[in-house]
Amino acid sequence: MTVQGGGHDAIVLGAGAAGLMAAATAGQGGARVVVLDHAQHAGRKILISGGGRCNFTNMDAGAGQFLSANPHFAKSALARYTPADFLALVQRHRIPWHEKAAGQLFCDRSARDIVDMLMRECAAGQVEMRLSHRIIDVARDGAGQYRVETDHGVFHAPSLIVATGGLSIPKLGATGLAHDLARRFGLGMVAPAPALVPLTFGARDMAWMEPLAGLSVNVGIACHDGAGRQARHVTFRDGMVFTHRGLSGPAILQASSYWQPGEALEIDLLPGINAAARLLEIKRDRPRAGGVAMLSMLLPQRLAQFFARSCLPEGQLAGLPDSVLTDMAGTLGAWRLNPHGTEGYVKAEVTRGGVDTACLSSRDMEARDVPGLFMVGEAVDVTGWLGGYNFQWAWASGHAAGQAVAERRG
Ligand SMILES: Cc1cc2nc3c(=O)[nH]c(=O)nc-3n(C[C@H](O)[C@H](O)[C@H](O)COP(=O)(O)OP(=O)(O)OC[C@H]3O[C@@H](n4cnc5c(N)ncnc54)[C@H](O)[C@@H]3O)c2cc1C
Repeated sequence: MTVQGGGHDAIVLGAGAAGLMAAATAGQGGARVVVLDHAQHAGRKILISGGGRCNFTNMDAGAGQFLSANPHFAKSALARYTPADFLALVQRHRIPWHEKAAGQLFCDRSARDIVDMLMRECAAGQVEMRLSHRIIDVARDGAGQYRVETDHGVFHAPSLIVATGGLSIPKLGATGLAHDLARRFGLGMVAPAPALVPLTFGARDMAWMEPLAGLSVNVGIACHDGAGRQARHVTFRDGMVFTHRGLSGPAILQASSYWQPGEALEIDLLPGINAAARLLEIKRDRPRAGGVAMLSMLLPQRLAQFFARSCLPEGQLAGLPDSVLTDMAGTLGAWRLNPHGTEGYVKAEVTRGGVDTACLSSRDMEARDVPGLFMVGEAVDVTGWLGGYNFQWAWASGHAAGQAVAERRG
């Protein structure tokens, strides 16, 4: 078996967002770094992200926009490498960008700009980039050196940064390598699951949902996470889209990260509106209108027809008791639906869960009990909301590990 280019200070597994950032940081800090990836090209997920324009950060990113068994874990890395730091890098490379929704920054031209930037940063740190390398085995010897066997030879280094991401989108090269290595080296795991993913429904629900496919509506969805003093509640107000498999759209993707099998979703179809007062006002102003006409003033036509048919008696509003309208308002404000599941890793933008943060240093992502082993990016149990947060975590955690490796050498 060939031993490849000895004398590395660190091996980075994964040439994605976190791995490229870790490698560039370590390399520019003076460490001799090799990046290994089985894909032919680096940063494939970056290239397709944000509809091809890469929502590369969110200026409001803080630990509050992340799910983790330890909601405080992400704070240190996020504070030490901020959205402003990444933006400064983007500007130094003269990449044109724009703010789409509040805080969400996208490339003007293409996500390719971000990948090219990271590759230039790696080149500036003399990082050796080894793509199309299949990882066969990873081990740590008695002297504390990591040994990575690939189909192109064996690599050795005292530090190993695992940046191979989560399970989402296998066709883009996602594998469970990081999770397997975590188990192999005795690190705990928080059960992984698809997140930022459309939700699916059973045949009974699909029978009435299917005709609504394509329809979109603004909603509010209340989500909760954790228990006891760690419990957190958040409401996402954004678009929801009916699909041929169930529900999608940004509000649903956000809610999917919190949703647990068996739980109902509670959807406010009229967020920010006092629905009871509004329905009673319409009844007063247009007593001869029917239910569909009334609901069409507040909802898209097809949804109005659906609710009128399923919740209201036929006839003019004047003939309806106010209590029927207040009940209707209650339904519209807290519409309960029971998803059957998700569209899975083939459609999930991220994987929630992953390497248990309790086993890692929040300062530099090193495993507490395995010196020289770092876990970064999506592999770790830190999952961001939609809106540039996941990349910010990849940059921040990659930077933290890269810096630690460079300091160790110095
Ligand atoms: C469609 C889509 C759109 C997205 N849009 C955004 C967005 O706009 N903004 C945002 O913040 N987030 C977005 N995300 C999420 C974001 O892409 C991820 O959170 C981020 O890429 C995670 O970075 P990472 O480096 O940890 O993992 P990845 O970027 O997934 O990189 C992992 C790397 O490891 C390699 N690898 C995996 N397994 C192996 C193995 N066994 N051997 C060798 N190499 C391996 C892969 O080839 C890959 O290069 C999007 C995700 C998807 C799927």
